[in-house]
Amino acid sequence: MLDLASNDYLGLTRDPRVTKAAADAALQWGAGATGSRLVTGTTELHAELEAELAEFCGFPAALVFSTGYAANLGVIAALSGPGTVLITDEHNHASLIDGGRLSRAETVVVPHRDVAAFRDALANRTRKRALVVTDSVFSVDGDLAPLAELAEACRDHGAGLVVDDAHGLGVLGAGGGAALTAGLAGEPDVVVTTTLSKSLGAQGGAVLASERVIAHLIDTARSFIFDTGLAPSAVGAALTALRIIRAEPALPGRARAVARELAQRLADAGLSASTPEAAVVSVRAPSPAEALEWSLRCRAEGVAVGCFRPPSVPDRVSRLRLTARADLTPSEISTAVEVILGSNPASGI
Ligand code: PMP
Repeated sequence: MLDLASNDYLGLTRDPRVTKAAADAALQWGAGATGSRLVTGTTELHAELEAELAEFCGFPAALVFSTGYAANLGVIAALSGPGTVLITDEHNHASLIDGGRLSRAETVVVPHRDVAAFRDALANRTRKRALVVTDSVFSVDGDLAPLAELAEACRDHGAGLVVDDAHGLGVLGAGGGAALTAGLAGEPDVVVTTTLSKSLGAQGGAVLASERVIAHLIDTARSFIFDTGLAPSAVGAALTALRIIRAEPALPGRARAVARELAQRLADAGLSASTPEAAVVSVRAPSPAEALEWSLRCRAEGVAVGCFRPPSVPDRVSRLRLTARADLTPSEISTAVEVILGSNPASGI
Protein backbone atom coordinates (compact mmCIF):
# COMPACT_ATOMS: atom_id res chain seq x y z
CA MET A 1 0.00 0.00 0.00
CA LEU A 2 1.38 3.39 -0.99
CA ASP A 3 0.99 5.53 2.12
CA LEU A 4 -0.46 9.01 1.69
CA ALA A 5 -2.52 8.79 4.85
CA SER A 6 -0.06 8.66 7.76
CA ASN A 7 1.78 11.58 9.31
CA ASP A 8 5.21 10.06 8.68
CA TYR A 9 6.17 13.21 6.75
CA LEU A 10 9.88 12.50 6.52
CA GLY A 11 9.62 8.74 6.09
CA LEU A 12 11.56 8.19 9.32
CA THR A 13 9.26 5.70 11.06
CA ARG A 14 10.86 2.75 9.27
CA ASP A 15 14.29 4.29 8.79
CA PRO A 16 16.71 1.60 10.03
CA ARG A 17 18.68 4.16 12.05
CA VAL A 18 15.50 5.16 13.89
CA THR A 19 14.19 1.63 14.47
CA LYS A 20 17.63 0.53 15.69
CA ALA A 21 17.74 3.45 18.10
CA ALA A 22 14.34 2.36 19.45
CA ALA A 23 15.57 -1.20 19.95
CA ASP A 24 18.88 -0.10 21.50
CA ALA A 25 17.08 2.21 23.92
CA ALA A 26 14.75 -0.59 25.02
CA LEU A 27 17.69 -2.93 25.54
CA GLN A 28 19.60 -0.35 27.55
CA TRP A 29 16.82 1.31 29.54
CA GLY A 30 13.96 -1.20 29.54
CA ALA A 31 10.69 -1.67 27.70
CA GLY A 32 8.86 0.94 29.76
CA ALA A 33 9.69 4.07 31.72
CA THR A 34 8.62 2.34 35.00
CA GLY A 35 7.02 5.40 36.60
CA SER A 36 6.19 9.07 36.47
CA ARG A 37 8.85 11.37 35.08
CA LEU A 38 9.09 12.82 38.60
CA VAL A 39 9.82 9.47 40.24
CA THR A 40 11.65 6.87 38.13
CA GLY A 41 10.50 7.68 34.60
CA THR A 42 13.29 10.04 33.51
CA THR A 43 16.37 8.53 31.87
CA GLU A 44 19.44 10.28 30.51
CA LEU A 45 17.85 9.83 27.09
CA HIS A 46 14.83 11.93 28.10
CA ALA A 47 17.15 14.72 29.22
CA GLU A 48 19.19 14.49 26.01
CA LEU A 49 16.08 14.66 23.86
CA GLU A 50 14.79 17.68 25.76
CA ALA A 51 18.09 19.52 25.44
CA GLU A 52 18.49 18.80 21.71
CA LEU A 53 14.87 19.53 20.85
CA ALA A 54 15.00 22.87 22.67
CA GLU A 55 18.21 23.82 20.90
CA PHE A 56 16.90 22.76 17.49
CA CYS A 57 13.67 24.70 17.87
CA GLY A 58 15.33 27.78 19.38
CA PHE A 59 13.80 27.65 22.86
CA PRO A 60 15.56 27.74 26.22
CA ALA A 61 13.93 24.53 27.46
CA ALA A 62 11.74 21.56 26.53
CA LEU A 63 9.69 18.97 28.36
CA VAL A 64 8.76 15.55 26.96
CA PHE A 65 5.25 14.19 27.60
CA SER A 66 3.87 10.74 26.81
CA THR A 67 1.85 12.08 23.83
CA GLY A 68 1.14 15.34 22.06
CA TYR A 69 -2.40 15.01 23.36
CA ALA A 70 -1.13 14.89 26.95
CA ALA A 71 1.16 17.85 26.27
CA ASN A 72 -1.78 19.96 25.12
CA LEU A 73 -3.98 18.97 28.04
CA GLY A 74 -1.18 19.68 30.48
CA VAL A 75 -0.11 23.01 29.02
CA ILE A 76 -3.54 24.55 28.58
CA ALA A 77 -4.74 23.50 32.02
CA ALA A 78 -1.50 24.50 33.78
CA LEU A 79 -1.24 27.91 32.12
CA SER A 80 -4.88 28.93 32.53
CA GLY A 81 -7.82 28.48 34.88
CA PRO A 82 -11.04 30.20 35.85
CA GLY A 83 -9.29 33.61 35.87
CA THR A 84 -8.12 33.25 32.26
CA VAL A 85 -9.81 33.59 28.91
CA LEU A 86 -8.71 31.20 26.17
CA ILE A 87 -9.09 32.63 22.69
CA THR A 88 -8.96 29.74 20.28
CA ASP A 89 -9.20 29.23 16.52
CA GLU A 90 -12.33 27.31 15.50
CA HIS A 91 -10.23 24.76 13.58
CA ASN A 92 -7.95 23.89 16.52
CA HIS A 93 -7.14 20.28 17.28
CA ALA A 94 -9.38 18.37 19.68
CA SER A 95 -6.63 18.08 22.30
CA LEU A 96 -6.45 21.87 22.61
CA ILE A 97 -10.23 22.00 22.99
CA ASP A 98 -10.12 19.28 25.66
CA GLY A 99 -7.34 21.14 27.49
CA GLY A 100 -9.60 24.19 27.58
CA ARG A 101 -12.44 22.14 29.05
CA LEU A 102 -10.17 20.72 31.75
CA SER A 103 -8.89 24.17 32.65
CA ARG A 104 -12.37 25.56 33.38
CA ALA A 105 -11.21 28.80 31.76
CA GLU A 106 -13.69 30.89 29.81
CA THR A 107 -13.24 30.05 26.12
CA VAL A 108 -13.88 32.31 23.16
CA VAL A 109 -13.84 30.51 19.82
CA VAL A 110 -12.96 32.81 16.94
CA PRO A 111 -13.36 32.34 13.17
CA HIS A 112 -10.55 30.50 11.44
CA ARG A 113 -7.31 32.54 11.06
CA ASP A 114 -9.20 35.78 11.66
CA VAL A 115 -6.61 38.07 13.28
CA ALA A 116 -9.12 40.92 13.69
CA ALA A 117 -11.43 38.58 15.60
CA PHE A 118 -8.56 37.50 17.86
CA ARG A 119 -7.76 41.18 18.50
CA ASP A 120 -11.42 41.92 19.28
CA ALA A 121 -11.62 39.06 21.71
CA LEU A 122 -8.40 40.19 23.40
CA ALA A 123 -9.54 43.81 23.65
CA ASN A 124 -12.99 42.95 25.01
CA ARG A 125 -12.08 40.17 27.37
CA THR A 126 -13.70 39.93 30.75
CA ARG A 127 -10.73 38.26 32.48
CA LYS A 128 -7.34 39.80 33.18
CA ARG A 129 -5.27 36.91 31.85
CA ALA A 130 -5.58 35.72 28.27
CA LEU A 131 -4.03 32.98 26.16
CA VAL A 132 -4.34 32.84 22.40
CA VAL A 133 -4.33 29.20 21.31
CA THR A 134 -3.78 27.99 17.75
CA ASP A 135 -2.50 25.12 15.65
CA SER A 136 0.48 26.16 13.50
CA VAL A 137 -0.43 23.93 10.56
CA PHE A 138 -4.13 23.00 10.72
CA SER A 139 -4.37 19.26 10.66
CA VAL A 140 -7.20 18.68 8.18
CA ASP A 141 -6.60 21.38 5.55
CA GLY A 142 -2.88 21.94 6.11
CA ASP A 143 -3.15 25.74 6.06
CA LEU A 144 -0.96 27.92 8.31
CA ALA A 145 -1.91 30.13 11.24
CA PRO A 146 -0.93 33.81 10.93
CA LEU A 147 1.55 33.39 13.78
CA ALA A 148 3.49 36.64 13.44
CA GLU A 149 0.25 38.67 13.48
CA LEU A 150 -1.17 36.69 16.39
CA ALA A 151 2.05 37.20 18.36
CA GLU A 152 1.85 40.93 17.71
CA ALA A 153 -1.77 40.98 18.90
CA CYS A 154 -0.72 39.10 22.04
CA ARG A 155 2.09 41.59 22.70
CA ASP A 156 -0.29 44.55 22.23
CA HIS A 157 -2.81 43.06 24.66
CA GLY A 158 -0.53 41.43 27.25
CA ALA A 159 -1.50 37.86 26.41
CA GLY A 160 0.38 34.59 26.02
CA LEU A 161 0.46 32.55 22.80
CA VAL A 162 0.23 28.75 22.72
CA VAL A 163 1.05 27.16 19.36
CA ASP A 164 0.43 23.49 18.60
CA ASP A 165 3.19 22.66 16.12
CA ALA A 166 2.37 18.96 15.67
CA HIS A 167 2.36 19.32 11.88
CA GLY A 168 5.09 21.97 11.68
CA LEU A 169 8.02 20.39 13.52
CA GLY A 170 10.29 18.68 10.99
CA VAL A 171 8.33 20.20 8.11
CA LEU A 172 8.57 24.00 8.23
CA GLY A 173 11.84 25.77 7.52
CA ALA A 174 14.77 23.44 8.09
CA GLY A 175 12.57 21.45 10.46
CA GLY A 176 12.75 23.65 13.56
CA GLY A 177 9.05 24.35 13.21
CA ALA A 178 6.57 27.17 13.02
CA ALA A 179 7.82 29.43 15.82
CA LEU A 180 11.35 29.43 14.46
CA THR A 181 10.10 30.12 10.93
CA ALA A 182 7.92 32.99 12.17
CA GLY A 183 10.78 34.52 14.19
CA LEU A 184 9.05 33.77 17.51
CA ALA A 185 11.31 31.05 18.90
CA GLY A 186 12.43 31.71 22.44
CA GLU A 187 10.00 34.56 23.12
CA PRO A 188 9.08 34.34 26.81
CA ASP A 189 5.32 34.53 26.22
CA VAL A 190 5.26 31.95 23.42
CA VAL A 191 4.77 28.28 24.28
CA VAL A 192 4.95 25.58 21.61
CA THR A 193 3.51 22.10 21.97
CA THR A 194 4.28 19.32 19.54
CA THR A 195 4.27 15.60 18.92
CA LEU A 196 7.10 13.16 18.36
CA SER A 197 4.77 10.92 16.36
CA LYS A 198 4.65 12.68 13.00
CA SER A 199 7.83 13.92 11.30
CA LEU A 200 10.00 12.39 14.04
CA GLY A 201 8.46 9.01 13.27
CA ALA A 202 8.32 7.96 16.93
CA GLN A 203 5.72 8.50 19.64
CA GLY A 204 5.32 11.06 22.42
CA GLY A 205 4.81 14.79 22.88
CA ALA A 206 6.85 17.81 23.90
CA VAL A 207 6.57 21.41 25.02
CA LEU A 208 9.07 24.15 24.13
CA ALA A 209 9.15 27.22 26.31
CA SER A 210 11.13 29.39 28.69
CA GLU A 211 12.85 27.77 31.69
CA ARG A 212 10.24 29.42 33.90
CA VAL A 213 7.27 27.96 32.05
CA ILE A 214 8.86 24.52 31.90
CA ALA A 215 9.53 24.63 35.67
CA HIS A 216 5.88 25.56 36.21
CA LEU A 217 4.72 22.67 34.00
CA ILE A 218 6.90 20.20 35.90
CA ASP A 219 5.20 21.33 39.12
CA THR A 220 1.62 21.65 37.89
CA ALA A 221 0.83 19.92 34.57
CA ARG A 222 -1.26 16.97 35.68
CA SER A 223 -0.78 15.00 32.45
CA PHE A 224 2.98 15.22 33.11
CA ILE A 225 2.96 14.49 36.83
CA PHE A 226 0.41 11.67 36.98
CA ASP A 227 1.36 9.88 33.77
CA THR A 228 4.07 7.27 33.27
CA GLY A 229 7.04 8.75 31.42
CA LEU A 230 7.51 8.18 27.70
CA ALA A 231 8.96 4.72 26.94
CA PRO A 232 12.74 4.79 26.33
CA SER A 233 12.35 3.20 22.88
CA ALA A 234 10.20 6.14 21.73
CA VAL A 235 12.65 8.62 23.24
CA GLY A 236 15.61 6.93 21.55
CA ALA A 237 13.81 6.85 18.21
CA ALA A 238 12.79 10.51 18.42
CA LEU A 239 16.31 11.58 19.39
CA THR A 240 17.84 9.76 16.43
CA ALA A 241 15.18 11.13 14.06
CA LEU A 242 15.92 14.62 15.33
CA ARG A 243 19.64 14.13 14.68
CA ILE A 244 18.86 12.89 11.15
CA ILE A 245 16.85 16.04 10.43
CA ARG A 246 19.67 18.20 11.77
CA ALA A 247 22.18 16.37 9.60
CA GLU A 248 19.93 16.46 6.52
CA PRO A 249 18.36 19.94 6.53
CA ALA A 250 16.97 19.47 3.00
CA LEU A 251 14.52 16.77 4.19
CA PRO A 252 11.74 19.12 5.37
CA GLY A 253 11.86 21.07 2.09
CA ARG A 254 11.58 17.80 0.20
CA ALA A 255 8.33 16.91 2.02
CA ARG A 256 6.93 20.36 1.20
CA ALA A 257 7.97 20.04 -2.45
CA VAL A 258 6.25 16.64 -2.73
CA ALA A 259 3.09 18.20 -1.26
CA ARG A 260 3.20 21.06 -3.76
CA GLU A 261 3.71 18.69 -6.67
CA LEU A 262 0.84 16.43 -5.62
CA ALA A 263 -1.50 19.40 -5.18
CA GLN A 264 -0.47 21.02 -8.45
CA ARG A 265 -0.97 17.88 -10.50
CA LEU A 266 -4.39 17.25 -8.96
CA ALA A 267 -5.42 20.89 -9.45
CA ASP A 268 -4.20 20.81 -13.07
CA ALA A 269 -6.55 17.86 -13.60
CA GLY A 270 -9.46 19.94 -12.32
CA LEU A 271 -9.68 18.88 -8.68
CA SER A 272 -10.17 21.37 -5.88
CA ALA A 273 -6.83 20.84 -4.13
CA SER A 274 -5.33 23.11 -1.48
CA THR A 275 -2.14 25.11 -2.01
CA PRO A 276 0.06 23.44 0.58
CA GLU A 277 2.62 25.31 2.66
CA ALA A 278 3.44 22.29 4.79
CA ALA A 279 3.10 18.55 4.04
CA VAL A 280 -0.70 18.21 4.09
CA VAL A 281 -2.76 18.40 0.89
CA SER A 282 -6.53 18.49 1.06
CA VAL A 283 -8.83 17.75 -1.85
CA ARG A 284 -12.47 18.72 -1.63
CA ALA A 285 -15.08 16.05 -2.24
CA PRO A 286 -18.64 16.88 -3.32
CA SER A 287 -20.29 14.97 -0.46
CA PRO A 288 -19.47 12.77 2.54
CA ALA A 289 -20.61 9.66 0.63
CA GLU A 290 -18.40 10.47 -2.35
CA ALA A 291 -15.41 11.21 -0.13
CA LEU A 292 -15.76 7.79 1.47
CA GLU A 293 -16.29 6.04 -1.85
CA TRP A 294 -13.28 7.86 -3.32
CA SER A 295 -10.96 6.88 -0.46
CA LEU A 296 -12.13 3.25 -0.58
CA ARG A 297 -11.51 3.08 -4.33
CA CYS A 298 -8.01 4.53 -3.84
CA ARG A 299 -7.32 1.95 -1.16
CA ALA A 300 -8.52 -0.84 -3.45
CA GLU A 301 -6.01 0.45 -6.02
CA GLY A 302 -3.21 0.35 -3.46
CA VAL A 303 -3.07 4.00 -2.33
CA ALA A 304 -4.00 4.85 1.26
CA VAL A 305 -5.48 8.36 1.64
CA GLY A 306 -7.25 10.00 4.56
CA CYS A 307 -10.98 10.66 4.36
CA PHE A 308 -12.41 13.46 6.48
CA ARG A 309 -16.15 14.01 6.76
CA PRO A 310 -18.45 15.79 9.22
CA PRO A 311 -18.32 15.80 12.19
CA SER A 312 -14.52 15.43 12.16
CA VAL A 313 -14.06 18.47 9.88
CA PRO A 314 -14.53 21.91 11.39
CA ASP A 315 -16.26 23.45 8.37
CA ARG A 316 -18.52 20.55 7.28
CA VAL A 317 -16.61 20.13 4.01
CA SER A 318 -15.72 16.52 3.18
CA ARG A 319 -12.24 15.94 1.83
CA LEU A 320 -9.49 13.57 1.03
CA ARG A 321 -6.45 14.36 3.11
CA LEU A 322 -3.15 13.43 1.51
CA THR A 323 0.13 13.60 3.33
CA ALA A 324 3.33 14.12 1.45
CA ARG A 325 6.38 12.14 2.45
CA ALA A 326 9.92 13.31 1.80
CA ASP A 327 10.84 9.82 0.60
CA LEU A 328 8.12 9.45 -2.08
CA THR A 329 9.77 8.75 -5.42
CA PRO A 330 8.69 10.48 -8.67
CA SER A 331 7.08 7.23 -9.85
CA GLU A 332 5.20 6.86 -6.55
CA ILE A 333 3.95 10.43 -6.88
CA SER A 334 2.74 9.67 -10.43
CA THR A 335 1.02 6.47 -9.27
CA ALA A 336 -0.70 8.33 -6.45
CA VAL A 337 -1.95 11.05 -8.82
CA GLU A 338 -3.21 8.51 -11.38
CA VAL A 339 -5.02 6.45 -8.76
CA ILE A 340 -6.63 9.48 -7.09
CA LEU A 341 -7.82 10.82 -10.45
CA GLY A 342 -8.96 7.43 -11.69
CA SER A 343 -10.86 6.67 -8.47
CA ASN A 344 -12.84 9.90 -8.37
CA PRO A 345 -16.54 8.92 -8.19
CA ALA A 346 -17.48 12.29 -9.70
CA SER A 347 -15.55 11.46 -12.89
CA GLY A 348 -17.97 8.61 -13.57
CA ILE A 349 -15.21 6.01 -13.88
N1 PMP B 1 -2.16 18.24 17.86
C1 PMP B 1 -2.42 18.04 16.56
C2 PMP B 1 -2.62 19.22 15.67
C3 PMP B 1 -2.50 16.73 16.06
O1 PMP B 1 -2.78 16.54 14.76
C4 PMP B 1 -2.29 15.65 16.94
C5 PMP B 1 -2.31 14.21 16.46
N2 PMP B 1 -3.36 13.87 15.66
C6 PMP B 1 -2.04 15.91 18.27
C7 PMP B 1 -1.96 17.22 18.70
C8 PMP B 1 -1.86 14.81 19.27
O2 PMP B 1 -0.58 14.28 19.21
P1 PMP B 1 -0.31 12.78 19.66
O3 PMP B 1 -0.82 11.91 18.57
O4 PMP B 1 1.15 12.70 19.89
O5 PMP B 1 -1.09 12.57 20.92
